[in-house]
Amino acid sequence: MKSIATIYIDGQFVTPHGREPLVLLDPATERETTTVILADAVDAQRAIAAAKAAYPAVSRTTRERRMAWLQRLHDAAAAAERDLVDVIVAEYGGTMAMATGTARRAAASFGIARRLLAEYPFEREVGGARVTMVPHGVVGMITPWNASIGFIASKLAMAIAAGSTSVIKPSELSAAQTELITRVMHGAGLPPGLFNIVTGRGDVVGAEITRHPDIAKISFTGSTAVGKAIARGAVDTMKRVTLELGGKSPTVLLDDADFAKAMPLAAQAAVMNSGQACIAGSRLLVPRHRVGEAHELAVRAFRDLVVGPTRDPRVNVGPMVTRTQYERVQAYIRKGIEEGATLLTGGPGRPDGLERGYFVRPTVFGDVRNDMTIAREEIFGPVLSIIPYRDDDDAIGIANDTPYGLHAYVFGADLARANRVAAEIQAGRVFVNGLYDAPEAPFGGFKQSGLGREFGVFGLDTYLEPKAIMGHDKRL
Ligand code: NAD
Repeated sequence: MKSIATIYIDGQFVTPHGREPLVLLDPATERETTTVILADAVDAQRAIAAAKAAYPAVSRTTRERRMAWLQRLHDAAAAAERDLVDVIVAEYGGTMAMATGTARRAAASFGIARRLLAEYPFEREVGGARVTMVPHGVVGMITPWNASIGFIASKLAMAIAAGSTSVIKPSELSAAQTELITRVMHGAGLPPGLFNIVTGRGDVVGAEITRHPDIAKISFTGSTAVGKAIARGAVDTMKRVTLELGGKSPTVLLDDADFAKAMPLAAQAAVMNSGQACIAGSRLLVPRHRVGEAHELAVRAFRDLVVGPTRDPRVNVGPMVTRTQYERVQAYIRKGIEEGATLLTGGPGRPDGLERGYFVRPTVFGDVRNDMTIAREEIFGPVLSIIPYRDDDDAIGIANDTPYGLHAYVFGADLARANRVAAEIQAGRVFVNGLYDAPEAPFGGFKQSGLGREFGVFGLDTYLEPKAIMGHDKRL
């Protein structure tokens, strides 16, 4: 069994002050794979002190210097792609496609930040003032287990571009991925203290980062419940907060859409990362008069999914990350049946032939009402709810009748109409007639899906603060 007993502070791998061990299991086999020694609040304080000490020099570096750092991080992450994919697959059962995408996006984040930094207008004249965009200070980053490496890289890239130092608290469930990306980034040879990485419990290390007066900004990705706790905790010291939270994203098939072409994409949106994605299109809205066709195609698409251990590249649905998550998804499937939705395929229990591991059956419910639990709550598993609607306005109403507003997907033949519907849906990102990779478009949520934006230039803006100096051109 692998043992991880170091954290990364001030450019060095050090033994944590924390002593609590956590045993991680392979979700595909339920076998113990890794023991992690978790960091504690004292470790968080040490990491914050290192980031604080490094900040004055980092914040005064030239743009060119930071571009060179980002280039080195990009090259190191790109060279490690294969190893990163392996650890993502092994640690949480991400599919090969998802793991490869995550590893590539992690490297790309550094490249994108480097390019944005080359062009970013840090200084301009506005209203008689010289306005400069300045970093906040030490940034605390708290990330979830899914696509962990991707979030660490995308947040860190922007913080470095801005001239901040960072303390990163990744999910304790992604300790092996964290250890590898830390070693890879350490290999880039950047100044000590620029980034510090402490894996520990959320309510210990995460809470310390949230509370600590020397953290100026928090960038959090995770559940809405924890996001709210962080926002509440951060307000005492008025930290800047960016929150990327949960979702219950709608996929709208307009009545002129080619369902046969749209359904495989709708299914893909629903089961990305085995359904364990904040951006999953978990509600499928279909016109009432084409419900039969939609049911048939959705069932076919879900029955075609290959479920199993994700070392096999043909597999597109892997296990749930933990037993707890497996049980949560099972409970939602039972709840859907109890509340009167029609079970079209899948259902409770395990897929045939998979007696071990946290595998669930890809499940489609028809005749779902938008007030049912399965249509309201984030399930985080491969479960699709098909909800019928009357007309475009009804579809928009149902799409927006949710506390969330992260993503939406719209399919239709008449582009003007599809774009009109897209414009009415309250979501941070809307995809029309396809699933696109858009690493520089702003990413974030309306309503309880979050606060602020990440990625691209809108992301970089959130790591900077305008400072106005008036009279800078006048002698006394
Ligand atoms: P989570 O909210 O349980 O944990 C996220 C992180 O917060 C972890 O590092 C955890 O240790 C930490 N944490 C927990 N309690 C804390 C506290 N009291 N104070 C500070 N930190 C604390 O989420 P998860 O299970 O790791 O990830 C799944 C969730 O993340 C889903 O709800 C999903 O929708 C969301 N998510 C959102 C996005 C997005 O970009 N919007 C992306 C991925 C995942």
